[in-house]
Amino acid sequence: MNRDFLRKMKEQLPPQITLVAVSKFHPLEAIREAYAEGQRVFAESRPQELMSKVEQAQDMPDLQWHFIGHLQTNKLKMVLPYADLVQSVDSQRLLDAIEKWGREHGRRINVLLEMHVALEESKQGFYEEEILDILFRVTQDKAYPHICFKGLMGMASHTDDMEQIRADFTRIKSFLDYLQDLFPELESFKELSIGMSDDYQCAIECGSTMVRIGSAIFGERNYEK
Ligand SMILES: *Cc1c(COP(=O)(O)O)cnc(C)c1O
Repeated sequence: MNRDFLRKMKEQLPPQITLVAVSKFHPLEAIREAYAEGQRVFAESRPQELMSKVEQAQDMPDLQWHFIGHLQTNKLKMVLPYADLVQSVDSQRLLDAIEKWGREHGRRINVLLEMHVALEESKQGFYEEEILDILFRVTQDKAYPHICFKGLMGMASHTDDMEQIRADFTRIKSFLDYLQDLFPELESFKELSIGMSDDYQCAIECGSTMVRIGSAIFGERNYEK
């Protein structure tokens, strides 16, 4: 764990920006070390790994967990009981399943809508029209009463070209501003989760309220799908 980086981030990050420590593929000991430095918000991307870490972290009850990976509807029970925020909601089908789970369990689930901003077609996320459609149904038809919509999440194009990354971040920030004007009744729709280890500074300049930082804090991950 890069203690100096974590300390520097915690000192320098403006107070309105949440530092989300992405602990996926790292052991619980790494989380403990970050916890000892005062870090409280962690994110995981695989349901099984989230569930097992939550169970092993009972002695750190004030931890907050975010889920940031692709979530299949048959894995909700491994994620929704534990996640304070699901950042990676990327399909209508998943939203419908979360609403159903929330209704059945008497819970209201906090989510971010993942927006497709990258150049790669393969990246997941909603297009602007789909997000508009969802929020019209939320505000006009009172759709999804068991979901609290907290804002947008996005991942920039996979490139070293900072101008492209800045363009992606600017696009999602402008869209968030537009949605807030259009739906002022959605008072909690204000989070903008953009920025990772390599581009968080640019994301902050572009209006991020949540940076998701993994490798800069915990080092390289051993393997990834
Ligand atoms: C892994 C991951 C991160 C962290 O990436 P780093 O480059 O290690 O900081 C952030 N967001 C998502 C959605 C991820 O899957």
